[in-house]
Amino acid sequence: MGPVLIGHEIYRMSSYGQRHPLRVPRVSTVMDLSRALGWLPDHAFRRSPRARPEALTHWHHPAYIAALQEAEATGPADHLRAFGLGTHANPVFPEVWRRPATSAGGVMLAAEMLREGGVVYVPAGGTHHGLPDRANGFCYLNDPVLAMLAMRRLGLRRIAYVDIDAHHCDGVDVAFRDDPDTLLISVHEERRWPFTGLLEDEGAGNVFNLPVPAGFNDSEMRAALHELILPRLEGFRPDAVVLQCGADAVEEDPLSRLSLSNNAHWSVVAALRPVAPRYLVLGGGGYNPWSVGRCWTGVWATLAGAEIPDRLPHEAESVLRALVWHDAPKRKPVQPHWFTTLRDTPREGAVRPEIRARLAVLAGRPGP
Ligand SMILES: [Zn+2]
Repeated sequence: MGPVLIGHEIYRMSSYGQRHPLRVPRVSTVMDLSRALGWLPDHAFRRSPRARPEALTHWHHPAYIAALQEAEATGPADHLRAFGLGTHANPVFPEVWRRPATSAGGVMLAAEMLREGGVVYVPAGGTHHGLPDRANGFCYLNDPVLAMLAMRRLGLRRIAYVDIDAHHCDGVDVAFRDDPDTLLISVHEERRWPFTGLLEDEGAGNVFNLPVPAGFNDSEMRAALHELILPRLEGFRPDAVVLQCGADAVEEDPLSRLSLSNNAHWSVVAALRPVAPRYLVLGGGGYNPWSVGRCWTGVWATLAGAEIPDRLPHEAESVLRALVWHDAPKRKPVQPHWFTTLRDTPREGAVRPEIRARLAVLAGRPGP
């Protein structure tokens, strides 16, 4: 079985609200661009099922799942705020139950499809801040945790989770930091919300955090890949690798101050593929509709073995030209190449001494 992309039309029109960073289309762009480029034949696509409420209680509390369904049925209410529902970060929007339940259903289907091996991409997945009993950081359910627990129920023991989103994966950390059969590696911007994921954290000896300064570049990500991520994965010998591929560490993203080009993401995606017989790739953050759509479509090209053209054909360019970013931040003006290319110009640079020093600290720790 070749690589499979799991998606759904629910993401096309769904918005967290006109002032929320997640007002922008993301998954629909990946599907539209991939189809326009001839990279997504029907046999490589699965429509995401919606998870049943009971399936979510493998990690989430039943009272919270009930509250999330109630929020969609009857709208915001004071008593729902105890579950983090109805805040600026986690508003009650029309699909507040169906949308995250569809993403969770997608990753749980992915876990089943990967039982015998393979590669599955769920760009709607990667909601790594979700907590057992409440919404957190734009995340209502924690689909990475649900996917990893589903893999466990299918008999897989050693699971490696790698996260290159600009933000630390606090919810996944809560779930697995004490589990020696899970390897957790996160590269994220230092001193940024949720302010967890410190270099010193070790969990049960299985947690490796690399907080990085503003301006983190492609050369620095390559150092993290070769000096931290790949050596730890090879030492761990996982049955499955889960990669959270948040696009908010790309230079043009409005929510972080990291400076990667999308080449960095694609290099990590490619490098992790041979590490284990099962590979689940998820989305995550990403709030500039062009940079997230281009980055994640290139992730699929990398997995599917498609050649990325220097200049997009007309039909693909039309997908990018049709995107709208209401109230786009003025400090991130639209660039002409956002319409005509997928690949960014690489953003190489020096590997700064503080990153070298942190990689050395992590390299000096005993392995899982
Ligand atoms: Zn993020």
